[in-house]
Amino acid sequence: MNQYTETIVIGGGLVGAATSYYLAEKGREVTLVERGQLNRQSSGQNAGSLHFQLEYRMIAFWEQLQHELSQLIPLSIASETKWRHLESELGLDLEVVQHGGLMVAETAEEWKVLTKKFELEKKLGLNTELLSSYETHNLAPYLSEKVIGSAFCPEEGHANPRQVTPAFARKAIEKGANVHINSSVRSIEKGSGRWVVELVSGKRVIAENVVITAGAWTQEIGLMLGLHIPVYPVPLLMNVVEKSPPFLHHMVQHVGKRLTMKQVRDGNILVGGGWQSYFQKKKGKICFDLPPLIDPRLVKENVRLASSIVPGVNDLRLIRSWAGVTGITHDQLPLIGELPERKGVYIAVGGSGFTFGPLYGQIISDLITEGESEFDIGSFSPEKLAHLNLFMR
Ligand SMILES: Cc1cc2nc3c(=O)[nH]c(=O)nc-3n(C[C@H](O)[C@H](O)[C@H](O)COP(=O)(O)OP(=O)(O)OC[C@H]3O[C@@H](n4cnc5c(N)ncnc54)[C@H](O)[C@@H]3O)c2cc1C
Repeated sequence: MNQYTETIVIGGGLVGAATSYYLAEKGREVTLVERGQLNRQSSGQNAGSLHFQLEYRMIAFWEQLQHELSQLIPLSIASETKWRHLESELGLDLEVVQHGGLMVAETAEEWKVLTKKFELEKKLGLNTELLSSYETHNLAPYLSEKVIGSAFCPEEGHANPRQVTPAFARKAIEKGANVHINSSVRSIEKGSGRWVVELVSGKRVIAENVVITAGAWTQEIGLMLGLHIPVYPVPLLMNVVEKSPPFLHHMVQHVGKRLTMKQVRDGNILVGGGWQSYFQKKKGKICFDLPPLIDPRLVKENVRLASSIVPGVNDLRLIRSWAGVTGITHDQLPLIGELPERKGVYIAVGGSGFTFGPLYGQIISDLITEGESEFDIGSFSPEKLAHLNLFMR
């Protein structure tokens, strides 16, 4: 049983759904295949933060990363704008809130890092401000007195991860995209100048272009193409605190500690920031498909940190914790573009993938339809994997 399509998109998370939407919107033929249900992996399990400020790690290595950062900031700026217009573009409520984000410091050393970050961002054109202790507490009276200052990005915020991918998928279908769930890809071969993608059902989809949007499972798809695509599955912890009247108006993160917090529309507070959970083993080997295990001690530490920065959380109960699996590259930067060894195969993965997901979709659709993107994404090109793939055929 064969189906013909111009582009097959593999993976029904945010990046796959957005890519399908932008292709369908341009009147192009697209088929999205998802192994399970749409939005069940990291796109539906994340913290929903819209992060535009540079992260600590990037500031620490800024000298080595100068070129990458000069290409990342324009993506952040374009993502700010994209999120601002996304609800009207899709005509759906995504619970997008862009009231600003505060990156807080507690020590003189952390303040130094914020200052360095601010200088870099200013040079690269990102709109952030350094706020003194007085200005910080004036803007965010809910913060602990321990906070000695912050960096404020007025465009940061959050959106509801449970709404965004389904919205893109719904709109893609309305524009003519085919979406197949429970359709795991089993193999990819080149035949008569086209890509032949076989699903576990035995069905074959024959396409001019393949887009890999398989997140943490990217390596598996790479091996089907005979290539190394080093994307590492990472299990992360999230916690949610019971509802309370609105008081936490910004997205809060810490410059030196693993913490992000926000109060969502229904009043719950989400607490995360990159704390780990752990993969389980199956037959003596780590298995990325089993649900990761949560360590209650880390839940406690994450929530304790949250209440030390936002003391209002102290009086509230933790109601749920979960773990989600995301795919990251070795430098935690995006990997986006056409695979030089496999013409017509594109990839978009990594970075702050919820924040950048809609833009990744637009970029990939532009690469397919126009042959180029308005953004300089050379630093994130899969060409940097050429040294690994020299040994693959
Ligand atoms: C707990 C947590 C918190 C996070 N917080 C944030 C945040 O606040 N802000 C932010 O910007 N980012 C955040 N992230 C990262 C962000 O969620 C991801 O980068 C983003 O969702 C990746 O989207 P994706 O579409 O690439 O991958 P996914 O959503 O993981 O989708 C990949 C899809 O591919 C499918 N697939 C895999 N193999 C196959 C196959 N063989 N055939 C067909 N389909 C296949 C999978 O089933 C899956 O549905 C967080 C991640 C986690 C886990």
